[in-house]
Amino acid sequence: MTDTAAPPPMPPPRGALHVARVFGINVHVHWAWLLVAVLMVQARAAAYSGLFWNISEYVALFGIVLLHEFGHALACRSVGGRAEHILLWPLGGVAYVRPPQRPGATLWVSAAGPLVNVVLVPLTVIAWAAVSNAVPGSDLAELTSSIAVINVIVLIFNVLPVYPLDGGQILRSVLWFFVGPHQSLTVATIVGLVGAGGFLLLAFYISDWWLVLIAVFSLMSSWRGLRVARARARAARVARRVTHRCPECGEPPPLGSCWPCPGCHGSYDAFENVATCPHCDHTAGAVPCVFCGSAFPAPAYFTYEVADAADKRDPGGFRAP
Ligand SMILES: [Zn+2]
Ligand SMILES: [Zn+2]
Ligand SMILES: [Zn+2]
Repeated sequence: MTDTAAPPPMPPPRGALHVARVFGINVHVHWAWLLVAVLMVQARAAAYSGLFWNISEYVALFGIVLLHEFGHALACRSVGGRAEHILLWPLGGVAYVRPPQRPGATLWVSAAGPLVNVVLVPLTVIAWAAVSNAVPGSDLAELTSSIAVINVIVLIFNVLPVYPLDGGQILRSVLWFFVGPHQSLTVATIVGLVGAGGFLLLAFYISDWWLVLIAVFSLMSSWRGLRVARARARAARVARRVTHRCPECGEPPPLGSCWPCPGCHGSYDAFENVATCPHCDHTAGAVPCVFCGSAFPAPAYFTYEVADAADKRDPGGFRAP
């Protein structure tokens, strides 16, 4: 029995370019981020006298989002969690973090990103005021004002209580203190569904396609989160499969139909019938742990095979048959 085997490394995000490794955290840029860079530089071309300033503005946006994500990642390390990757993609940034599953830790990790922007508010505003006093109307004055505004937009947007944005995660962590891990996720994802619906109405009203994408992304994440919350609440009540353990969090999986089937949207027991859904014959390449969300091929959960889990982990996560 080697229950103490180190968990396998987190798979890097797909479709992304690895650009740097800082404090042991890998920074990746999705190819679509570069496409957005071209569009944004074009849209803001009239704001400056030369392309250099537009590119500087985009690099500043990149830097602000990156600092925000490092806030999450380093906070996660500080409470003993794992953080290995940061991805910048068209909807912003994602820190791949796995904090310890207790409300104080997840609250600190979710809040640390927006707190970086809070710290940046006085710094960017002072820089803006100083530059517009010294060289009013210049490209540099426009750039510093833009950086201060971008930072505030990133801050406000992220603290909206719409799951999976930071505000939604903060709401979930605060509720966790009072109603436990499953109820808090249920409430936060329902609030997220309502908020994302509001985003969608607003996005159509002001014809903002970026906001449409954010709204659809939030709707899908909240819906998935709600299903996970319900599955976990069910799993916490039922008996466990004592011969298996999650290679990541060590929790034995529940016995019973606790996994939502992506094929037919019914529920099934992923450890029966060779991980195949009895309703629609969908086979899960990797089975998600209902407690921590990590996905591994079903055999990796056998307790006597925990040590081999690193070799067996499916880097693609959930895979179609
Ligand atoms: Zn964040
Ligand atoms: Zn099915
Ligand atoms: Zn787990």
